[in-house]
Amino acid sequence: MIVDLRSDTFTRPTPGMLEAMMKAPVGDDVFGEDPSVNKLESMAAGLFGMEAALYCPTGTMSNQIAIKVHTQPGDEVICDKTAHVYQYEGGGIAFNAGAQVRLLDGDHGRVTAGQVLQGINPDDVHKARTSLVCLENTANRGGGSCYTPDAIRAIRQVCDEYQLKLHLDGARLFNALVARKESPALYGPLFHSISVCLNKGLGCPIGSILIGPKEFIKRARRVRKVFGGGMRQAGFMAAAGIYALENQVERLAEDHHHARLIADKLKQTPYVASVLPVETNIVIFEVTGTRTAAELSAALKDKGILAIAISPTQIRMVLHLDVSKAMVDHVLQVIAEL
Ligand SMILES: *Cc1c(COP(=O)(O)O)cnc(C)c1O
Repeated sequence: MIVDLRSDTFTRPTPGMLEAMMKAPVGDDVFGEDPSVNKLESMAAGLFGMEAALYCPTGTMSNQIAIKVHTQPGDEVICDKTAHVYQYEGGGIAFNAGAQVRLLDGDHGRVTAGQVLQGINPDDVHKARTSLVCLENTANRGGGSCYTPDAIRAIRQVCDEYQLKLHLDGARLFNALVARKESPALYGPLFHSISVCLNKGLGCPIGSILIGPKEFIKRARRVRKVFGGGMRQAGFMAAAGIYALENQVERLAEDHHHARLIADKLKQTPYVASVLPVETNIVIFEVTGTRTAAELSAALKDKGILAIAISPTQIRMVLHLDVSKAMVDHVLQVIAEL
């Protein structure tokens, strides 16, 4: 048995999803004529109570488009030091938007309104103009941690006061919504733009959706074309997104349950020093004893369990659609015996 816990991007389409893709009505989306893409976009906008949405090939492109639209070259973007937009998008903020970054020292990937306020540059010719704040929910390197709406509201207040835009990298936003039993409609009004990955826990082969006001999405559509993300009969892929939003959101709760089972078992072993609080589908733990994280991950691999050593002392396990209860039971057994 191989259990792939490296990432929730390793899922394969379910039979129902494949069938929906096969049957999708399609057209040329660059001409705005793909009915499936149009349906997915209006569905996503509706869910979040926002005006419009844009289907993009990846979450990285969604984030980078948003940053490009919200900033001017030379501007400063505020985010946590572990943010995906800064750590894992190839320097895209500088490359694509010509903007620079102000990093905040958040708690498990979450920053506070006070930290944001501290990070804003004064209106001074020596300083870069602060124009955008990016939050991440759930926070990947924070171990899938979630913001509370109140914490976001406080940050939005600071943004409004200083005329900053607020973007949410919501690659795993649906994990947060399911874990906290919240509605997407709660989140739309809190942000100027939201990106959501369809290719993670929602189980699509590719895709992300960028959501925001009509005028923002109009500009985003132009940038998507410039970035090479204007796809033609993208409806085959958008249909997977529609299927996921209709059928594969609630089941994220199973992944969260599985993550807690694994975390509880890890805490009982002598080779685990600590486990980050598990709020959703990610388990990050600190290794102790004679083995490094890389060595422990190699030992897990020998037993058919794939997990990434994300630092010399940390291993990450991500639960998803293709990890069954039987697989989790196997993982629990291996963890106990390792
Ligand atoms: C995966 C991820 C993205 C972007 O993902 P793509 O692989 O480009 O689709 C953005 N932000 C976070 C937090 C992610 O985990």
